[in-house]
Amino acid sequence: ERRKLIAGNWKMNGLKADGLALASDLAGRLKGAGAVPFDLLVCPPFPLLFPVGEAIKDSPLALGGQDCAPKTSGAHTGDVAPTMLTDAGCRYVILGHSERRADHAEADALIAAKAAAAHKEGLIAIVCVGETEAQRDAGQADAVVSGQLAGSIPAGATAANTVIAYEPVWAIGTGKTATPDDVKAMHANIRATLDGKIADPAKVLILYGGSVKPGNAAELMAVENVDGALVGGAALKADDFWAIATSC
Ligand code: 13P
Repeated sequence: ERRKLIAGNWKMNGLKADGLALASDLAGRLKGAGAVPFDLLVCPPFPLLFPVGEAIKDSPLALGGQDCAPKTSGAHTGDVAPTMLTDAGCRYVILGHSERRADHAEADALIAAKAAAAHKEGLIAIVCVGETEAQRDAGQADAVVSGQLAGSIPAGATAANTVIAYEPVWAIGTGKTATPDDVKAMHANIRATLDGKIADPAKVLILYGGSVKPGNAAELMAVENVDGALVGGAALKADDFWAIATSC
């Protein structure tokens, strides 16, 4: 009943020609494949949103931003408003990625404000959570993730406007992946935590992210309560990203 979402987070990679080639390749595969059991999403860097959005506008390939401001417009140098994302054709925005939490000191309250602003503009917020290796080793993984969820999900969140991405920080870009058992336990913890926080918690998509690749995707995507993937490195190659999606 929950349709899988395979999302590519390109992070700070690629210039215009690279992004156009990758997105066009994926759009072509999607078109050729006919009915598929997943939604496919690419989240390029900001400067590529308009050209990529233009290139895929007649395709089911969805577009998303990697961040947005909590405000609509005004004197906020360097920030990008949710309206600018929808203007470029975005339906989604990634918020609270661990790299933004670490590099830009984004705290839960700011992420909740960004998600609220994104919702107001009709965007689906992909809210990212995940513990560090030290927190996991200290037995705090569940508590850390529950706390992040409690603080980063705004009032008015629904299964239609919010997706959760569980990305253990120690598994991002490291080649280390959480075991299917650990993922199963954490995703169950997340769904239980959503009860009371989001209407219809059983319908919320919960993605796994962290070194997802063609070789481990089928096993991870088969885990209970895993409703898709948020993919970094392997999303930069059409063959790998497509292999991950078609392993659903
Ligand atoms: P990798 O797939 O490169 O580990 O990155 C995961 C991630 O952070 C996606 O948002």
